[in-house]
Amino acid sequence: MNLKEQIRDVKDFPKAGIVFKDITTLLKNPEALNYAIDELYLCAKEAGVNKVVGIESRGFILGGAIAAKLGVGFVPVRKPGKLPAETLKETYSLEYGTDTIEIHKDAVSEGDKVLLHDDLLATGGTARAACNLIEKLGGKVAQVSFIIELNFLNGRKAIEGYDIRSLISYDSE
Ligand code: AMP
Repeated sequence: MNLKEQIRDVKDFPKAGIVFKDITTLLKNPEALNYAIDELYLCAKEAGVNKVVGIESRGFILGGAIAAKLGVGFVPVRKPGKLPAETLKETYSLEYGTDTIEIHKDAVSEGDKVLLHDDLLATGGTARAACNLIEKLGGKVAQVSFIIELNFLNGRKAIEGYDIRSLISYDSE
C-alpha cells in the first residue's frame, strides 16, 4: 500500500502559501484506512502503552481506532473551551502569536504510559505542548506517532528524545 498516493495536496489552504496535506482522501478508502491503523497499531504495541492521547481534531480519528485495537483508553487534547470538566492548559508559540490546548486534569494519572497521536508533524509545537500536558499530569510519553511528517520543518527537534514514528514523510513541499 502506497499511503502517499492517498494524501491530497491542497494549495493555499487555510491561507496563501500553505500546502495542506488532506488526509480525508486516505480516510475514505477502506484499504488505506485499515492499513494506516494497522501500521500505527503495530508501532504502538511495541511501546506497551496503557493510554492513547489524540490531538484535536484529526488526531481523534486514528487515535481512537489505535486505542480500541490496543484495548486501552482514549484521551482527547482539545482547543480551549471545549472540554467540560476541570482542565490543564498549555500555551505555545506559533509563527505569529500563540495557541493553547487543554486536557482534562483527571484524564492522565501518575505512571500512565501514553501514546500521543496526531495526523501530522509540522513544526512540532503542538506535539511538544501536548507532551508537556501529559507529563505535568504524571504520565510518561512512551511514543509519539503521526501519519505524516514534514521533514523540512524540523518538527523532530521540538520533540527530541521521544520515540517518534511517522508513516509518510516529505522532504519538501
Ligand atoms: P505543528 O504544531 O506546527 O507541528 O502543527 C501540527 C498541527 O497543525 C497538526 O495538528 C496538523 O494537523 C496541523 N498542520 C500543520 N501544517 C499542516 C499541513 N501542511 N497540512 C495539514 N495539517 C497541518
